[in-house]
Amino acid sequence: MSGSSLDLNKKSELLLEKWQICKSTPTFDVFVEFAVGVSSLTEFLEVRGLSGLHQIAHGLEQKVLSIFDQDAQESLSSELLIELDGQITGFLNRVQSYIEGNSTSVMDRRKTADVQEVTEIATGSHIRFVTLNPLTWQGLAVQLGFYNIEAQIYDLQNRSEPSQEPAIILVDAMGLQIDAFVENVQTMRGQFSASTIIGLNLQSDFETLRLALGAGCDFCYPGLTPQATIMSRIVKLCSNEDEPPYRVLVVEDSKTAAMVIRRSLSEAGIESLAISRPQEVLNCLVKFQPDLVLMDMFMPGCTGVEVTRIIRQHSEFLSTPVVYLSAATNVALQVDALRLGGDHFLTKPFNPVVLNAVVNSKIERYRALRRSMYLDSLTGLFNHITSKQRLDTMVNAAILDGTTLCVAMVDIDHFKKVNDTYGHPMGDQVIRSMAWLLKQRLRKTDVVGRYGGEEFIVILPGTHAQQAFQFLDAIRQDFGRMRHLTADTSFTCSFSSGVGEWSKGMSPEALIKQADELLYQAKRAGRNQVVIPVS
Ligand code: GH3
Ligand code: MG
Ligand code: MG
Ligand code: MG
Repeated sequence: MSGSSLDLNKKSELLLEKWQICKSTPTFDVFVEFAVGVSSLTEFLEVRGLSGLHQIAHGLEQKVLSIFDQDAQESLSSELLIELDGQITGFLNRVQSYIEGNSTSVMDRRKTADVQEVTEIATGSHIRFVTLNPLTWQGLAVQLGFYNIEAQIYDLQNRSEPSQEPAIILVDAMGLQIDAFVENVQTMRGQFSASTIIGLNLQSDFETLRLALGAGCDFCYPGLTPQATIMSRIVKLCSNEDEPPYRVLVVEDSKTAAMVIRRSLSEAGIESLAISRPQEVLNCLVKFQPDLVLMDMFMPGCTGVEVTRIIRQHSEFLSTPVVYLSAATNVALQVDALRLGGDHFLTKPFNPVVLNAVVNSKIERYRALRRSMYLDSLTGLFNHITSKQRLDTMVNAAILDGTTLCVAMVDIDHFKKVNDTYGHPMGDQVIRSMAWLLKQRLRKTDVVGRYGGEEFIVILPGTHAQQAFQFLDAIRQDFGRMRHLTADTSFTCSFSSGVGEWSKGMSPEALIKQADELLYQAKRAGRNQVVIPVS
């Protein structure tokens, strides 16, 4: 079973347990605990991209949350319990059958994954085009193969039995009546709970989109969408980079309140640290590096607003979100708190579902902001500055560990011609393809950044020049075979690369200079080659 299936299994068992307690003791407090469980599982399914299950969980969550609004909050009626029981059992059964189906397909995929000497290729993703026009999608399917994404084309006129659960199903509306399209989406949705379903070539009117989304599409591309756009979406969806868990620092003098808050956060998979003495806050910010601070408003000796002001004196914590928790409903105080650099105000006793939702959405935005600071927007790779910082860190690590390190500069050949012949947007697409290919082939410990326009830097720790050559040359051959699709034709590109090998006493700058010089040699020698230092 994959890590994600294991987590899902644990979470669904926990939810069942909570529901059973709720059934035997249907008080409102117990129900709130259960609601937190539903909400956290819904969030989990969304984050993991398990679309079908997420849709069902979301329906259940909405139902559960609507009960919060009802007046009779003493205990739950038996009719309500029976109704919910049916919905929950149905949902948990779907989760179980997903877990069972998934544990075998993950193992199947492992068997076929290629493990090379220098690089580990990530386990492949499996996607499916459902279409009346198989020929249209063949080029794209071949191209996806370079990214280790296996695309199967399911011909609607010649149906075959599907083998495993696809990560993404793309249903092509071309030549299909809308009801036939809807029927196909519903069939796929019924069969594959976790797949993301994308509608292609749909009409762009309101009614068509309503029907398509209602049938279970996660999103749609109305009109004729360029294949490059579809491709970019597929690659993004398949590159499931594991994000580290969200971290929250709880500043709260009441130990009981802190415990309740932390329990609620941990339900949502959020890591937390609680301190009762505001004096410790700066130390903890540095050590724990939280994504958000939950701040009690009244503490002995000082208020939460004062603590926030102190935090804001440090520039590195200027944008860290602060959410206040307070029993006070004093509007003047709330306004003051927000004006002095707070981001949100929650009143105690807080609703744990709302707390988690606020925390999650604030952190999501905070992390997006941070990403935009160190990643390149076209490719999602590290930008120039971040790449250089990473190189400094990695050279220092090599000095400490007594290991070695290679740096490759990679530059696309005759790129101006691509722009001139096919246009700037197509040039961008080639840059993206190059970026994805590099990223796809790298080990977890390697680093790739966009160093300039169509120039990339690849840092390979613990690697000698000869190994770096093998690794880059394999990518060079694949990149040269890759066809870039335009509206009416396709073309290929190549790249050149120079590799610098670190030796004792060499600075990061000297390493880049060596790689640059060898790149220049590669260009002069006719391009489409990788050059390493003579040993
Ligand atoms: P060579 O084989 O010698 O590398 O030839 P080249 O044509 O690739 O030459 P050079 O590296 O000097 O040209 C890079 C071109 O890349 C110039 C610039 O217009 C273009 N470029 C830079 N950034 C971008 C970008 O973000 N998108 C697109 N489409 N083009 C870019
Ligand atoms: Mg307090
Ligand atoms: Mg170039
Ligand atoms: Mg260049």
